[in-house]
Amino acid sequence: MKYNMVDLVGQYKRIKNEVDNAVLNILEEASFINGPAVRSFQANLEAYLGVKHVIPCANGTDALQVALMALDLKPGDEVITTSFTFIATAEVIALLKLTPVLVDVDPDTFNIDPKAIEAAITPKTKAIIPVHLFGQCADMHVIKQIAEEHDLFVIEDNAQAVGADYTCPASGNSKKAGTLGHIGCTSFFPSKNLGAYGDGGAIFTNDDDLAAKMRVVVNHGMTVRYYHDEIGVNSRLDSIQAAILDIKLKHLDEYSKARLDAATYYNNAFASSSKIKTPVTADFTTHVFHQYTLVLKDVDRDGLMKHLADKGIASAVYYPVPLHMQKAYLDPRYKEGDFPITEMLSKTVMSLPIHTELTPEIQKEITDAVLEFVEK
Ligand SMILES: *Cc1c(COP(=O)(O)O)cnc(C)c1O
Repeated sequence: MKYNMVDLVGQYKRIKNEVDNAVLNILEEASFINGPAVRSFQANLEAYLGVKHVIPCANGTDALQVALMALDLKPGDEVITTSFTFIATAEVIALLKLTPVLVDVDPDTFNIDPKAIEAAITPKTKAIIPVHLFGQCADMHVIKQIAEEHDLFVIEDNAQAVGADYTCPASGNSKKAGTLGHIGCTSFFPSKNLGAYGDGGAIFTNDDDLAAKMRVVVNHGMTVRYYHDEIGVNSRLDSIQAAILDIKLKHLDEYSKARLDAATYYNNAFASSSKIKTPVTADFTTHVFHQYTLVLKDVDRDGLMKHLADKGIASAVYYPVPLHMQKAYLDPRYKEGDFPITEMLSKTVMSLPIHTELTPEIQKEITDAVLEFVEK
């Protein structure tokens, strides 16, 4: 492909010297696990997010699992989440023998529909996991109101929206995505907005007790060395990844701006096409465009993707199969047709390359190629 969904090489080249030195430094120190680089990154991320506790861990999926493990839930307790997300969100619920309860999404923002959450609450409901999908925050004001009313935990899956700002419509206060619920979880998978050069993740919270509990859980349930008070996991961010992330964190706002500029270019180019619906950003959130996702109207999506591929332009479908129709998650509670918006989106969405290294020249080639097929 001439143009991939991300350009991690181009991005690396701009910070190569700093990154190379930082990595070599870790090799010389040989402090690979829990070294000073991890503590530095943790403190810098806490300051950036304005959150009391950041707990680094091995990946975003672990972050979600550890968050749920900290809540002392019982098998069969219900956790409400969206039917339109990456599998990890529901996977950890199922893995812990909790019951994932799926609900539909908003057709404009692709984020979990608060009205659908309310309708899905039962006496067994214990938590809600909204996902800030593609880079904008879910409707957290309403979600938190529902959670308070029913005494539920809110865990934000912030794997795609690190750096986004949420403004509460009631108070007017702004906060970072991932710091709005009881616990926030993120991923540093290389293609995420704040990506490592390997796996990584982190958990955020302002709650001292939950933070203490999660620090124990990520470290084999160990409080005093070789004394295990509960069943935990082994989930660490290694020092090399932390050192790289510490450098990239300084660029995160500039990366978000580059993604927003690229999205604006695409929006303008597609504005007059009746076959393309460009992304809609809710007014309570900024959008950091982890993905730039179109909804196609009466367009042969496979044909368009092939047309682009023939010109060396990548495109992708996030996500082609709703959670309730995934083989491993088939469940007599759900059937095709239960989540009409999610099902419609899975058939009509298409994402274009979005990253920090796009230029108007590249984007013109991409948008010309899309319009050539769509408007033919
Ligand atoms: C990437 C992602 C995860 C999982 O992160 P990993 O670091 O790959 O485990 C979870 N949820 C969502 C929405 C994601 O996009």
